Amino acid sequence: MHKHHSALGLATARKPVQPVTLVRPHAARRAARFFAEKFPGRSIYAVKANPSPDLLALLWESGITHYDVASIAEVRLVARALPAATLCFMHPVKAKETIAEAYFTHGVRTFSLDTIEELEKIVRATRGAEDLNLCVRLRVSSEHAKLSLAAKFGAEPSEIRQLLIATRQASDALGICFHVGSQAMTPAAYSDAMERVRAAIVDAGVTVDIVDVGGGFPSTYPGMEPPPLDAYFAVIHRAFEDLPISYSAELWCEPGRALCAEYSSLIVRVEKRRGAELYINDGAYGALFDAAHLGWRFPVALLREPDSNARDMAFSFYGPTCDDLDHMAGPFLLPADVAAGDYIEIGMLGAYGCAMRTGFNGFGAVETHEVSDEPMDSLYAEPERVAASNVATL
Ligand SMILES: *Cc1c(COP(=O)(O)O)cnc(C)c1O
Repeated sequence: MHKHHSALGLATARKPVQPVTLVRPHAARRAARFFAEKFPGRSIYAVKANPSPDLLALLWESGITHYDVASIAEVRLVARALPAATLCFMHPVKAKETIAEAYFTHGVRTFSLDTIEELEKIVRATRGAEDLNLCVRLRVSSEHAKLSLAAKFGAEPSEIRQLLIATRQASDALGICFHVGSQAMTPAAYSDAMERVRAAIVDAGVTVDIVDVGGGFPSTYPGMEPPPLDAYFAVIHRAFEDLPISYSAELWCEPGRALCAEYSSLIVRVEKRRGAELYINDGAYGALFDAAHLGWRFPVALLREPDSNARDMAFSFYGPTCDDLDHMAGPFLLPADVAAGDYIEIGMLGAYGCAMRTGFNGFGAVETHEVSDEPMDSLYAEPERVAASNVATL
């Protein structure tokens, strides 16, 4: 992989024809160390947010030893990339063949479930194993999150008691897990969910060994600047300490977005301008799915030397495919004189964005380069460092 000091330096020196994924190893290391050192329990990386083997290695080196996988391909990927890692299969609906391969071939012992049928499937597929950590997924509200995960998974309140009692009998360690939705904008999302956990434990009268608060930890985007992560950790810690569970019970979390959003950004080239619309060479079928389909906004910067003096104006983007849906409404604020041939950096795409690229319509080829400047925004860096680095040097 080529290394450059900065996004600006790369764009001006190489004038790339294809979009370029920039990776910032120092940003991923910093996020991993933050969770490994400050979360008051175990941090399990949700691999779907970005399954890049380079990133997995960085997280491992920085203290993340457990990985949340949701498909047999993710199990195999992490088992190959990080043979000593512990895998936790936290998708509550699995094929029996997948469970069997995960358990017998890859040593997976932790599984989640949200129905009696799934519990029975896990017990059968592991031939009645007695060393399982089984986590019952509760349905909780997504009202504080930007992206709901409340509709699809999670046991109904009326089923939880019976499910916890049955799962207790089949497991070595019994867990309760939930997901408050992605990009949870307030720590209250977790304290509310922990109240559901408390009610479930009291109602079922079971001994719980693991409480897993899932993902949802936010990153920072234009118009979505969350409180500091320490505030989330403090609320979770307090709620955990208040639960009716044994002194030896473990607290887990499953961050995806928060661990990798700052790891990657994207350099695109403007191929055409039509008024306030910029036709760029990546889009909805590339790394900008969330910008197109969820209206998510990402930070943008013009990479031009010397810099433009024009005032900012609001642009929208069209991606490269022949499809009207390949449109990102933004608004994206850029200098008013942006023109075809200019390069733009789009930030905070390390989570989901870079992982969702397709080859539709013959686009999707991308180069990857490593840079050492700061990400366009950060929850982990000192604000002065980000500001200083944004006055980019070559
Ligand atoms: C997607 C997912 C995560 C990660 O969620 P983020 O919002 O990216 O932190 C964690 N756990 C499960 C079960 C998931 O499906």
